[in-house]
Amino acid sequence: MGLDIFDIKICKSPAAIKDEKIKLMTPGPVQTAENVMEARSRAFTNPDLDESFYDFYKETCDLFAKELHSSGDVYILGGEGILGLEAACASLTEPGDRVLVIDNGIFGKGFADFVSIYQGEPVLYMCDYHRPVDVNALKLFLDKDSSFKYATVVHSDTPSGVLNPVDKICPLLKSYGILTVVDTVTGMFAEELDIDAYMIDIACGGSQKALSAPPGLTFVTVSKDAMEAMECRNTPVRSFYANLLAFKTYYEDKWFPYTMPASCIYGLRTALDNLIADTNHLYRHKCIASAVRRALVAAGLELYLEDGYASSVTVINVPEGLEDSQILGRMRTGYGIMIAGCFDILAGKVIRIGHMGNNANVTDVAETLDALGKVLTELGFKCKAGMKEIFLNSLEAEMVV
Ligand SMILES: *Cc1c(COP(=O)(O)O)cnc(C)c1O
Repeated sequence: MGLDIFDIKICKSPAAIKDEKIKLMTPGPVQTAENVMEARSRAFTNPDLDESFYDFYKETCDLFAKELHSSGDVYILGGEGILGLEAACASLTEPGDRVLVIDNGIFGKGFADFVSIYQGEPVLYMCDYHRPVDVNALKLFLDKDSSFKYATVVHSDTPSGVLNPVDKICPLLKSYGILTVVDTVTGMFAEELDIDAYMIDIACGGSQKALSAPPGLTFVTVSKDAMEAMECRNTPVRSFYANLLAFKTYYEDKWFPYTMPASCIYGLRTALDNLIADTNHLYRHKCIASAVRRALVAAGLELYLEDGYASSVTVINVPEGLEDSQILGRMRTGYGIMIAGCFDILAGKVIRIGHMGNNANVTDVAETLDALGKVLTELGFKCKAGMKEIFLNSLEAEMVV
């Protein structure tokens, strides 16, 4: 049937989830492809001593740069997404530096901690958590105060699912001479992203989100300006593991700051190759996300956001009288599907369906919505419409347009 344009050809890995028979529909980690799991089981040598590994690593970084339209350097770091965020702040921040922390979500606000840890002075620019950052309002703020070394912003803040217009925010900041650090861990490969055109100085991504590799790696793009700022520091970077400057000459020197997790990087490369081969990727994300929202709203559920919906995750308010744990528990034990609740200020308040990367396919999302409808009915919530049907119909309507 025609809807197969919203499907993916890649075989998902039954082996990876076989033990628990759980379908992973969380906003990261997501389902991994079989060939990614196979690549991780490939034989490896000593990455520090094997010259061919430096070539493989560099070639993989160059592929990332090409896909992301970055003329700067790319480094793959041995650690989760959080390491990328911390490394950006560790490498740029000197004691006393003023840093603008754009806060319209939990990860957005979280940057203030990294800035403080490295003795910078975070200045929070707080805005509504239910909508994207208003670029005009930000400009008015910057007209009054723009003496910041760099600013941090989240492309897509996963706890709320808000998508920020980094294509406008980062050039604006740049016009005031402010460097930008963008957490695009969930945005990357789920949304349009053009590092050079958006003038992003450091962009951070993660293996377990839309790229659909297992958790364990982060990768960062570093612009010429960001590299210069690191090299012109008056004080040394106050971290070894999170020091991006330490990677600068890895290829010439044939030296990594620490032993690279070769198996993880083999898997990551295969996931990236899969993604490059999947030319329908971003379109499918957009259509599926929009059809999911239509289905949930038609059923009488409430979206957390008022505006600015990401294509990677959909966040709904827990219906009155129900608890998130009841819904999550029944989804898992009754239907073998893992979706997510939330944490921090949104703990217990919302439920999140992750439809990014390999999860962004018509079959799995339809099954998830079908199960969610049944679970809510079991719990006494009256769904006003069949979510699976509305989801499928909306996708069909997209195809006609
Ligand atoms: C997942 C995610 C991260 C990284 O979190 P980890 O637990 O390190 O994987 C950072 N920022 C955002 C917006 C994320 O969605």
